[in-house]
Amino acid sequence: MSAQKELLTVRNIGIMAHIDAGKTTTTERILYYTGRSYKMGEVHDGNAVMDWMEQEQERGITITAAATTCLWKEHKINIIDTPGHVDFTVEVERSLRVLDGVIAVFCAVGGVEPQSETVWRQADKYAIPRLAFVNKMDRVGANFDRCLQMMTKRLGAIPLPLQMPVGKESDFTGVIDLIEEKMLTFSEQTLGQEVVETAIPDHYREAFTAARMTLLEKLADFDEGVMEKYLDDKPVSVDEIYRAVRKATLALHVVPVLCGSAFKNKGIQPLLDAVVRYLPSPVDIPTVDGIDRNGDPVQRDTGVQEKFCGLVFKLVSDLFVENLAFIRVYAGSLKVGEKVFNPVQKKQEKISKLLKLHANKREEVKEIKAGDIGAIVGLRFTTTGDTLCGTGDFVILERMEFPEPVIGVA
Ligand code: GDP
Repeated sequence: MSAQKELLTVRNIGIMAHIDAGKTTTTERILYYTGRSYKMGEVHDGNAVMDWMEQEQERGITITAAATTCLWKEHKINIIDTPGHVDFTVEVERSLRVLDGVIAVFCAVGGVEPQSETVWRQADKYAIPRLAFVNKMDRVGANFDRCLQMMTKRLGAIPLPLQMPVGKESDFTGVIDLIEEKMLTFSEQTLGQEVVETAIPDHYREAFTAARMTLLEKLADFDEGVMEKYLDDKPVSVDEIYRAVRKATLALHVVPVLCGSAFKNKGIQPLLDAVVRYLPSPVDIPTVDGIDRNGDPVQRDTGVQEKFCGLVFKLVSDLFVENLAFIRVYAGSLKVGEKVFNPVQKKQEKISKLLKLHANKREEVKEIKAGDIGAIVGLRFTTTGDTLCGTGDFVILERMEFPEPVIGVA
């Protein structure tokens, strides 16, 4: 695969939520379902992932690392941990800097809560495209429509529901996919279930038709192709709708909304499909801003062939091994054995070991390419927020100052 094509399959995302909305559960389920399809180097089944999670929970260790890489349908999804608690707003901002997209998790009962607003505004500030997942659809008082209304009223968003829930509260069984015109039933309440796809039952037809018209109407506002067909009453193909949703999402015009119950393992697979379908790849971010050695603004192209530069967004002192510096490589590639320059500290660093962190294992890699995220082991001088670039080069990527200690514990 060419470097450019490979980059198209990368998603750097964060998961954000009001406390208790289900961020941890949603993340766990994502790791579970992607773990099942994990095939890089080693094949293992989902149980291994869950066993590992239980062990980690017993030991009281946070499940997600600063960045966890998982695979879904030929795509590599890097989930960057964004601390959710309101006290950690500064931390949230730091990790936001390296995200390309966000899943915002809402509680179907509480809807838009104060912290959902806080994180939403932060994502606005960094112009990060997002998807919304209305979680806890199984709970008493869950109300998908009210949640959509709250997104409009409180967040000023244009929610674009891509699904219609089937069944209410404890009878919530699945969703109707408004784009592909089919019903998805998540019937079993055990992990590892498959999604059962069936035709839309007759008694849902009317509601489906109305909801689909609303979807096309909203998309027509952002996409001329859809607009023409909609006005001429011609059928719009699934691919045309996908493209229009992606375009509107990337332009921050609309927020696709899906729903489910992470706890009951309902709705996670369609959410992962939406991540790869609508959220941006690093290719969608063609340049990165920084300053040169004279303090003048520069813009660097982000291709794999460009000169290397990357931003260290989190240092973690690992409980088992060494200090890890999580880096987003923006341009070029970072290779084991090479020396790099830290223009902030004015020091050289040697890259002796690079890691990718998966849900339940570390993988040593020789290289981290533009657009991707990984961890450098054993840097001596680098702190959070520092830029690394090639020796002889000088660029400082937009740096943010933070008061907290440099070394955190995972
Ligand atoms: P976080 O604070 O956003 O990370 O939320 P958690 O994932 O820890 O979830 C908070 C609580 O809500 C836990 O007790 C979960 O078991 C529960 N929970 C999460 N998702 C769901 C859901 O879809 N349905 C129900 N009924 N409970 C859920």
